[in-house]
Amino acid sequence: MTPEQLLYESDLCVKCGLCLPHCPTYQVTQDEGDSPRGRIALIQAAVSGQLQSTPRLHAHLNRCLGCLACERACPSAVKYSRLIDGIRAIRLQQHSRIGRWLRKTALTLASKPLLLSLGARLLRPLPRHHLISVLQRLGEQRLQRLIGLYPNISSPVKWQMAYPPAGESVGRVGLFLGCISRFSDQAALLSAVHILNRLGWEVVVPPKQVCCGALYQHAGEPVTAQKLKTQNQAVFSHQPLEAILTIASGCGAHIKEYGELPAPTFDISEFLNQLPWPEPVALKPLTQQIAVHDACSLRTADAVYQLLKRIPDIELIPLAGNTLCCGAGGTNLVTEPQMADALLAPKLTSLQACQATILLTSNTSCALHFAAGIRRAGLNIEVLHPVQLLERQIQDHDNPTG
Ligand code: SF4
Ligand code: SF4
Repeated sequence: MTPEQLLYESDLCVKCGLCLPHCPTYQVTQDEGDSPRGRIALIQAAVSGQLQSTPRLHAHLNRCLGCLACERACPSAVKYSRLIDGIRAIRLQQHSRIGRWLRKTALTLASKPLLLSLGARLLRPLPRHHLISVLQRLGEQRLQRLIGLYPNISSPVKWQMAYPPAGESVGRVGLFLGCISRFSDQAALLSAVHILNRLGWEVVVPPKQVCCGALYQHAGEPVTAQKLKTQNQAVFSHQPLEAILTIASGCGAHIKEYGELPAPTFDISEFLNQLPWPEPVALKPLTQQIAVHDACSLRTADAVYQLLKRIPDIELIPLAGNTLCCGAGGTNLVTEPQMADALLAPKLTSLQACQATILLTSNTSCALHFAAGIRRAGLNIEVLHPVQLLERQIQDHDNPTG
């Protein structure tokens, strides 16, 4: 986006303030600079040269979670996502070459948990005080948080190119793995494959698929995001598919905006919910209370509740404050730890109060953020993707992928 386009788009904001009560960062700080209206005013002032680039300006813009609750609430249809992505891209061009390199390295690390986990394992033999001093030099708090998100990364699954259905085929779908979720959500991905196969779907996993590009797009790197999009468009076009399925709603929201894909994109729960559930695939009753966190990026949250209500006796409890972001938005769970924890704290309190032993969420970064918070608080609550719970409840399910 050019500075002129940014100014045009931001001029559509009439400063009515109707978005303010919906903004999580404004709710925490009550500072106009941390509100959508304030950020739009800051973007206008910065782009038109009335405001110098200062650490305070950057702090207000960086704290934005990209949850887009403001966009959904705006009666003037201001495209806030374009504004915040646009200003981040312009700011990035002003960074030094080394600054850009450091940012790109951080993004690469964030999107490659295996690399991160390997690094952590290599550092583990160091005496603890040496490790802490290394971390301090590298940016202690953020790096420690990043490593702490992945306590036990299992060896990566060797994905087959295709998983045939259990019986007669009803169709073929493509599965998007995601850069982070292919490691941190392997169990959910495998559950998705098992369920789809049981329901008669062949599942294709194109081997050359890459990160969806959302991390880069929202961090001011649209050129890299475009390259990733082009590659994914190509690899999912190699054979006819009836749908492309995602299990991480953050990736799903971004891929749905690709356009020009050979098949429509669905979140896995959305897709499964619209299928008839064949009688032979019976679901066992479940009497446990199950809390549900609605990720901001999952625009079809109702589908999760409707799908899981197929489990007899299940009691689903929407987590209190579900309309507000949990603080994980984008890379903020690592880069803005104070804000991320301030937004997570009331959700953990609600989780304890409802006495659920399982929390469901459909987004990878939300799951990592909740799981880390639950570990820190010493709670005994399992964080699962909805399809993992669904698969557990299938009676006598076999396991085609081993
Ligand atoms: S972004 Fe929309 S809701 Fe918020 S102040 Fe501007 S016009 Fe009003
Ligand atoms: S995207 Fe979310 S955090 Fe950012 S201004 Fe909008 S409501 Fe606030």
